[in-house]
Amino acid sequence: MAQGNKYGMHRVLEPKGVMPQTAVKIDNNMDIYDNEILIDVIALNIDSASFTQIEEASEHDTARIADMIRQIVDERGKMQNPVTGSGGMLIGTVEKIGSDLDIDLKVGDKIATLVSLSLTPLRIDEITNIEPDIDRVTIKGKAILFESGIYAKLPEDMPESLALAALDIAGAPAQTAKLVKPGDSVLILGAAGKSGLMCCYEAKKRVGPTGRVVGLDYGEAAREKLESYGFCHEVIIGDATKPIEILEKALAANNGREYDLSINVVNVPNTEMSSIVPVKDEGTVYFFSMATSFTKAALGAEGIGKDITMIIGNGYTKGHAEITLEELRESETMRKIFEGTYK
Ligand code: NAP
Repeated sequence: MAQGNKYGMHRVLEPKGVMPQTAVKIDNNMDIYDNEILIDVIALNIDSASFTQIEEASEHDTARIADMIRQIVDERGKMQNPVTGSGGMLIGTVEKIGSDLDIDLKVGDKIATLVSLSLTPLRIDEITNIEPDIDRVTIKGKAILFESGIYAKLPEDMPESLALAALDIAGAPAQTAKLVKPGDSVLILGAAGKSGLMCCYEAKKRVGPTGRVVGLDYGEAAREKLESYGFCHEVIIGDATKPIEILEKALAANNGREYDLSINVVNVPNTEMSSIVPVKDEGTVYFFSMATSFTKAALGAEGIGKDITMIIGNGYTKGHAEITLEELRESETMRKIFEGTYK
């Protein structure tokens, strides 16, 4: 077959002229172009905001969740939730490598794709298992990686399920590592979640002895977990959709002072203002959550006269896979949490 476009634009079916991520439908024919990689898929890790929406729409019925996932992929040629717009990532075995690609992979290598499922051509032949607690869907099926698609070979020093779980959110801890400076005060919303824990750990490491990391999550179970792990200096419990409550609690946890940085890793909508109000003028808000609304964040910050930098959580930053997997090697506590949850 011929060379395809390096970004996969040759597979866009509808509407014409857009990129695969924005497309409503892409071509998931599994005959690969000379610059594509064919993957025999093992499992999908559905993005948390997407899985939460699908679970709620299916009233937590596993058979209906499977139907919804199949229907989305049949209609779109990719696993992109039409409500959240988000995807997730996958692990699989390299089945075929296009003849024009000169890369460090061989047939049979196990990889995790580090580009979103929302732009990855996917065909599901069978859904063999769904694990709602960890947003994981085991399938028989195939996927394609474009020439520009990034991937990581699965490390040999940890089970693939651990690597899959961590690599899914690799952008968040890696951006945290880059944004946090010694002495900073950092508020993390959704701290007890998967990315939250990794961001707390990374932030505490980077702020050093003069900084402060405060973790916010929902419910007393989250408090107990977070306090026992020791990844935050202080834990607060509250509803991130209620900015007035969060402002009060967040300031109290930081000796009355506003924060240098807040990191939003919540998986529900309407948490923009709780991330913005506790941050000081010229501070930074990092929105990793896929449930973030640009409009709500932009107009909300303007509406309260906050001159802050707001960053969209690019799922990719240089070295993100290495930084994230290193946490699992460095921290025995983190490794145990992941081993316990993502078996
Ligand atoms: P997760 O493990 O589900 O964590 C989310 C956390 O937020 C959970 O601890 C959850 O608590 C908590 N939470 C939910 N509602 C809350 C509320 N009202 N107030 C306070 N805390 C609340 O999710 P994740 O896998 O870490 O993902 C986090 C976000 O990142 C999601 O929105 C996901 O879609 C997004 N994401 C972005 C990218 C990217 O490239 N930017 C990539 C992957 C994922 P409960 O468990 O009690 O509900």
